[in-house]
Amino acid sequence: MDNIQAKTRIDELKKLIKENNEAYYVYDAPKITDFEYDELFRELKKLEQEYPQYLTADSPTQKVGDKILDNFKEIKHKYRLYSLDNSNNIEDLKKWYERVKKEYENTGDLSLVVELKIDGLSCALSYENGELKLAATRGNGVIGENITENIKAIKSVPQKLSKPINLEVRGEVYMPVSSFEKLNLQNIENGVKEFANPRNAAAGSLRQLDAKITAQRDLHFFAYTAITPDEKLFNTHKEALDLLKELGFEVNPNHKLVKGINPVIEQCNYWETERFNLDYATDGMVIKINDIDKQNELGFTSRAPKWATAFKFPPEEVWTKLTGIELSVGKTGAITPVALLEPVQLAGTIVKRASLHNFDEIQRLKINVGNSVLIKKAAEIIPKVIRKKEEEDLGIYQAPKTCPCCHTELVKPEGEVVLYCPNSLRCPAQVKGKIEYWASKEAMDIDGVGCSIVDKLWEKNLIQDFADLYKLTIEDFMTLDLIKEKSADNLYSAIQASKTPSMTKFLTALSIKLIGKETADLIANEFPTLEAIKNATLEQLTQIDGIGDKAAQSIINFFNDENNKIILSKLEQYGVNPKGSAFEKISNIFEGKTFVITGTLSQPRTFFEERIKKLGGKTSSSVSKKTSYLLAGENAGSKFDKASSLGVIILTERDFNLLSEDKTNE
Ligand code: NAD
Repeated sequence: MDNIQAKTRIDELKKLIKENNEAYYVYDAPKITDFEYDELFRELKKLEQEYPQYLTADSPTQKVGDKILDNFKEIKHKYRLYSLDNSNNIEDLKKWYERVKKEYENTGDLSLVVELKIDGLSCALSYENGELKLAATRGNGVIGENITENIKAIKSVPQKLSKPINLEVRGEVYMPVSSFEKLNLQNIENGVKEFANPRNAAAGSLRQLDAKITAQRDLHFFAYTAITPDEKLFNTHKEALDLLKELGFEVNPNHKLVKGINPVIEQCNYWETERFNLDYATDGMVIKINDIDKQNELGFTSRAPKWATAFKFPPEEVWTKLTGIELSVGKTGAITPVALLEPVQLAGTIVKRASLHNFDEIQRLKINVGNSVLIKKAAEIIPKVIRKKEEEDLGIYQAPKTCPCCHTELVKPEGEVVLYCPNSLRCPAQVKGKIEYWASKEAMDIDGVGCSIVDKLWEKNLIQDFADLYKLTIEDFMTLDLIKEKSADNLYSAIQASKTPSMTKFLTALSIKLIGKETADLIANEFPTLEAIKNATLEQLTQIDGIGDKAAQSIINFFNDENNKIILSKLEQYGVNPKGSAFEKISNIFEGKTFVITGTLSQPRTFFEERIKKLGGKTSSSVSKKTSYLLAGENAGSKFDKASSLGVIILTERDFNLLSEDKTNE
């Protein structure tokens, strides 16, 4: 590249970045993804380093943020706010560390705090004598917007501190992902434009002229910087975070004080995947030198502190092409459209498919094969399609009229968004799906009976439904391609060994519409035998906490269906007898208590489940406000965090043993 070319590209990049800054910072409506923006920004920075003669003070690389909206009063910040320099690879992170380390003489490995980079809107809050006086957005770092009333509408921001001090706090206003999704659903219903992501939803909700609207939105604030102008209340960043917590702020708990760069890299790698289990968006990690004196020694560039850097995660969102829509027929007949995509790298994996949920979603997205679509990785393993390029109009993909497998006309039950194939008895996709599910780990857990064996049995006409699995002989298996005597013997034994499942497994395995493992568990907890479940009334079923009208009706419909009655009687005839949860109760001492079990314990989970039920309690697989106790073994993960945040009592195995012994002896 010669000088003229470099200058032209630099000017082009500056213009592009400025346009996108305005869309993002001023109007909270980005036109490109953050990853695409960061690529432009890095290219500009690199060119300006190579051709310093073209570096000007008005370049976006020398500034923070953008101009601000006229709607709000301007505030000149007492202390300047900065952005952060960032890298998106570990090598650059290591280079940053080496560079910074060299700045201090005679220093070994540095103490660093590594914390999550919250993808929200940064704000500065001023407290006088412990009272919130002023709040402002970062703006261009020197001047921000006065959003004091709006900040006061956020419940987690203390209006009064636990100490009467003067303090300036910086932090990030964010909206939980679940609240962002709810808000967007409401917006769709009300015909209002959706927010592109939780960050824009937070910014749009905070920067409302009417603070009452802000108060209706679920906004939160994580504090991460403290400035105490009058007295030195901390010597390190970690101490500052602890002080902020003590004063009444929410401080993100996922920060760690470490020494040297290796544990920082570990944290970056860990959170790169673990971030999808959080209910707030994070786009990277921030690494800060812990010692405040050392921070002051290094100071700032015009745009960012030299004593901190950000590591940006690979993009969560990326554009690709929709090359087709695959229609899959589920075991209950639900037709699910799946997006087939031009393979693309997303958050560390190559993605070829994305979920589209149902045909209403396709209508909403206005997409068709050939469109460029933005896909996003979220908590689910399969990414989802977020939107198409607005300017591309290729029409909307039309929902099929007939089943892609058996060609029966599809139906859409009233009040549902899903299309179903009603041919539950003969549609091969549904019947095979049910058989595969019956044998799956989640259901009866029959080792070796997977898709390919079910396909072969089906093709040979050896099975018509899952009950038929129990009439198969070793010889039947040996008629299948590539199955030797030993494997045939194993398959036969595995099927026979599954004849006395728990009631939960049995009910789950029946593929009753709307009844997954958790609901099956609730029913099994309540009724002692299969006979009792078959005869349950709608009223009895809806009385169970966690079972609504639709699920209850679905159970009744299932057991009243003549074809299902035939399958159930075949199962009985072949000797498949679910063990009711009619444990002989030793006592009713856990009556009304719901336990959730997580982590690794000294015995299998079923051992504890049985014990809880024997003592009159119930078990559930997910933590909610209704959970009475979480029994947590080693390496307990997200359930532990959720239980802690909901104030659920957490028991170790030892606590549980003491409690249940106590209770039994009472
Ligand atoms: P930044 O988001 O890259 O990093 C700096 C900001 O991180 C700080 O100002 C602070 O608000 C925030 N932050 C979050 N957690 C923090 C923590 N624990 N400690 C300290 N700071 C923390 O920088 P920026 O200047 O705010 O914005 C630039 C970024 O914004 C770009 O990299 C891009 O991702 C995005 N952007 C996107 C577009 C677009 O069109 N898509 C346009 C402009 C900017």
